[in-house]
Amino acid sequence: MQFGFLKDNEPRVSITPSTLDKFISLGHKVFIEKNAGLQSGFSDFDYSNATFYSRKDLINNSDIILSVNSFSLGSLNDYKGKIIISNFSVDPNREKLKKEIEKNKITVFDLSMIPRTTIAQSMDILSSMAGLSGYKAIIKAAELLPKIFPMTITAAGSIKPVKVVVLGAGVAGLQAIATAKRLGAIVEASDPRQAAKEEVLSLGAKFIEVEGAVEDKSAGGYAVKQSKEFLLKQKEEVSKRLVQADVVITTAQVFGSKSPVLISKSIVEKMNSGTVIVDLASSTGGNCELTQDSKIIDHNGVKIVGNSYLSTELSHDASNLFSNNVFNFINHLIKDNELINEDDDILKSCKI
Ligand code: NAD
Repeated sequence: MQFGFLKDNEPRVSITPSTLDKFISLGHKVFIEKNAGLQSGFSDFDYSNATFYSRKDLINNSDIILSVNSFSLGSLNDYKGKIIISNFSVDPNREKLKKEIEKNKITVFDLSMIPRTTIAQSMDILSSMAGLSGYKAIIKAAELLPKIFPMTITAAGSIKPVKVVVLGAGVAGLQAIATAKRLGAIVEASDPRQAAKEEVLSLGAKFIEVEGAVEDKSAGGYAVKQSKEFLLKQKEEVSKRLVQADVVITTAQVFGSKSPVLISKSIVEKMNSGTVIVDLASSTGGNCELTQDSKIIDHNGVKIVGNSYLSTELSHDASNLFSNNVFNFINHLIKDNELINEDDDILKSCKI
């Protein structure tokens, strides 16, 4: 089959030189848009077995087109009858894009809808990117914080370790906890899923206990929407920690809904000046009332970073993981040079 990899309008790329070799070894042809990997540290010379094309030629010659991010409105008219594999998760124009997809008879597989099952784990771009974002959230906070993380004793006096609170201990939250612990912080975390408690404790952090969480096993590992009473109790428990925290990382999300607001404006106003909040849930509304997506704001000395896209700042590693996820998906999708039966559970979940 003939695969075309686009140059995205962001630093990540959906193919790396090592995944290119895997495609070639299966007998596929690979076309790449010029300079696609440059911002991830891969020059065109690194992809020695690929053919480089302009976008127009790449689309004309490929059966399947791949990219990291989805497409701008209007651009899908150029992809009539093609198969597209990409990530449409955070696109605000998702519904309008669906109409364009239908009109142009395009088959789209949205990698953000890969089911969270054991068999699909190696194709799960959300987990791959969330892990990197959790790590970067702590690094970003450390950059903005006017303190060092570890306890330090010097002849000039001693420095206390910083206090970190993590709200949402899923893939991103756990990586943030592990990174903060490695830097020497004292870490506490909250999550309504009971399974998260053991994971938090195993990383050496404290778990903030709140009774009355709703759990649903059929939600496939995701948290479900919590009752008003639970969220109120949680806010109360968490707020006691927030007013003493130096760094707060928020990752709390509920699949298919707006993110819960766990930090109100009035709590931010009680927090110490200099505290840094990194809100990774900003693209789905944010966990802090004051968060603005893709902005850093300063509210009475508290810095609030609204950024759900931190993996793009680690483009080399993010591209390596993303392209492996893509390759594993394609390996599942194509058998004997044909698309497999569409009754397959993974395809059914992610086909638009
Ligand atoms: P996510 O990004 O949807 O949510 C992040 C976290 O926010 C979750 O841990 C969720 O429980 C938490 N949250 C929701 N409401 C909250 C609230 N009010 N307060 C605090 N936290 C709240 O989820 P995720 O991180 O992608 O994954 C969640 C779980 O699914 C994890 O246990 C993960 O290990 C599991 N998972 C399994 C697979 C698989 O089996 N293939 C793949 C990915 C994730």
